[in-house]
Amino acid sequence: MAVTTEQRALDEIRAKVEADERLDFEDGLALMESDDLLQLGELADTARRSRGGGDEVFFVQNLYLNQTNVCRVKCKFCAFAVTQKQAHAYTYTADELVEDALRQRELTGFTEIHMVGGENPHVAFDYYVEIVRKLHEAMPDVHLKCFTASEIHHMTKLSGLSHEQVLRELHAVGVGSLPGGGAEVFAERVRRLVAPGKEHPDFWFHTHRAAHALGIPTHCTMLYGHVETYEERVDHLLRLRDLQDETGGFLAFVPLAFHPENTVFERRGWKQTAGSDDLKVIAVSRLLLDNVAHVKAYWIMMGMPLAAIALHFGADDVQGTVVREEIFHAAGARTETEQKIDELVRFVREAGRVPVQRDTLYNELRRWE
Ligand code: SF4
Repeated sequence: MAVTTEQRALDEIRAKVEADERLDFEDGLALMESDDLLQLGELADTARRSRGGGDEVFFVQNLYLNQTNVCRVKCKFCAFAVTQKQAHAYTYTADELVEDALRQRELTGFTEIHMVGGENPHVAFDYYVEIVRKLHEAMPDVHLKCFTASEIHHMTKLSGLSHEQVLRELHAVGVGSLPGGGAEVFAERVRRLVAPGKEHPDFWFHTHRAAHALGIPTHCTMLYGHVETYEERVDHLLRLRDLQDETGGFLAFVPLAFHPENTVFERRGWKQTAGSDDLKVIAVSRLLLDNVAHVKAYWIMMGMPLAAIALHFGADDVQGTVVREEIFHAAGARTETEQKIDELVRFVREAGRVPVQRDTLYNELRRWE
């Protein structure tokens, strides 16, 4: 039987993976264009294991806080942001955030607070410093993963400080790491279409590079499933890989599927990404990002059944037992907003893997053999 061009390309990629050779742009494109999902998953799992991955699947107990939903940017994919005048606009004070977090802590023993929000033009930089400082003082043992690169950029505008100075001040009062949001898809064509009000992607790289230089680890993301092409996805991933070569500061990559509900794209009849596309993105990310230790199957967006399959497609982290998550639920994510540990453990075990509770920096806290 004749070997197809697609199969020849996958065979060449397999040979590279088995020889621990780096994949290039053309390889990435061939993987994205392939519909042979099972082969992609198997290749990604082979790559994960050959780079030292074992049976562990990590998760963290975390609390999601959104300090404000007021945002000046108006990204077209966003169902969360409002203007100050809208009835459901909120901007919590530091004391309100602390009170809320302490109340939640009585219910769940989270080790991390993941806090992001809108780019509110009605607050000063001091507001951000104060909310971090007070959260840290109230819960010094909780890791604060706060503010996307876009929010850091916004703070430079509010304060007149450089990105380094903003990060230094936030780090000094308790920020331990940055989440990866604001990356969207780096290609300028895509940003013009979906986030025309957002800063140039160079600032995302500048912020993360600066954070890494200050010893602040960060995460990286890609918001996929809207107007981007396969080429633009691969370009995005390779740009992340380049920065990781330079700094080594990314803890994990988080692919984020676009949810059109309650956005302008819903009115245009757009649908949520297919599970097959979600699995493909996980697999190709695992294969291309050979220098990023962890790839997350973000169950809050995918749902746990698909996230469990993604564990066979190169993912080794399901993110967490999340207490509240407003941004993606505003855009229609339907998973339960609090996933109990025993359910998570059951899912991971049924996928044939070993659940490991971690802290933000991937130190092991508990293991279920
Ligand atoms: S995605 Fe972030 S920056 Fe864009 S409109 Fe929503 S809250 Fe604002």
